[in-house]
Amino acid sequence: MTSLPEKCSEKRLGLVIDLDTCVGCHACVVNCKEWNTGGYPAPLSDLNAYGANPVGAWLNRVHGFEAGDGENGRTVYFPKSCLHCENAHCVTVCPTGASYKRDEDGIVLVDEDKCIGCGLCAWACPYGARELDSSEGVMKKCTLCVDRIYNDNIPQAERVPACVATCPATARHFGDFADPQSNVSKLVAERGGFDLMPEMGYHPTNKYLPPRPAKKRATDVGASERLEEVKPDGGFLGWVDQMLSR
Ligand code: SF4
Ligand code: SF4
Repeated sequence: MTSLPEKCSEKRLGLVIDLDTCVGCHACVVNCKEWNTGGYPAPLSDLNAYGANPVGAWLNRVHGFEAGDGENGRTVYFPKSCLHCENAHCVTVCPTGASYKRDEDGIVLVDEDKCIGCGLCAWACPYGARELDSSEGVMKKCTLCVDRIYNDNIPQAERVPACVATCPATARHFGDFADPQSNVSKLVAERGGFDLMPEMGYHPTNKYLPPRPAKKRATDVGASERLEEVKPDGGFLGWVDQMLSR
């Protein structure tokens, strides 16, 4: 079995994921895969890439859910990857020391040279964040792009996880949760960021921001009501102003 660091590190790096702005485009999924397994002379999926059922280990996945019914219904896209938990039992169950949590920044990693592919860590993770790479026989998971965020060979502004760098909706934010003045800490405080499954006691570092209440759509308003509000002398810009100020 493997030990966790004795005390929480002074730096706690992780992600804030905004469920209000994620549009489910999967750009983060593709860029994650490309950064982490790119360079092979192969397409994105690991096995059977051109077959009917291409498969592979993905370190970040986006799930789509229908929430609510009728007028209150909405689609929520839910990106999911390792949450770099403080109390990471995926580490403590590891029989070889392959899974470990870094003292200096709290990132949870797998040393693939020590991994025997037993799958115990995947059983211990309540979030389904670990995936066995069946082509290599080792466990894979999000590394928070540790080879990017400390990489002196790329510009400072690009030293963020690949998923964060590519998100066109700015739904993903990276930073230090141990610093109350960091971008991620402020977002969590301002928007009510929450833990996934807090009852499990894993204390995930990553946080999610809830979707905001749905706004009334223009199509919900009757035609006569809409016509009444258009000022004939306001022109198109007047109409746009009225619609945006609702
Ligand atoms: Fe381990 Fe799962 Fe937590 Fe990641 S999300 S640290 S794999 S328990
Ligand atoms: Fe959502 Fe951003 Fe990922 Fe697209 S890239 S699925 S918007 S988190």
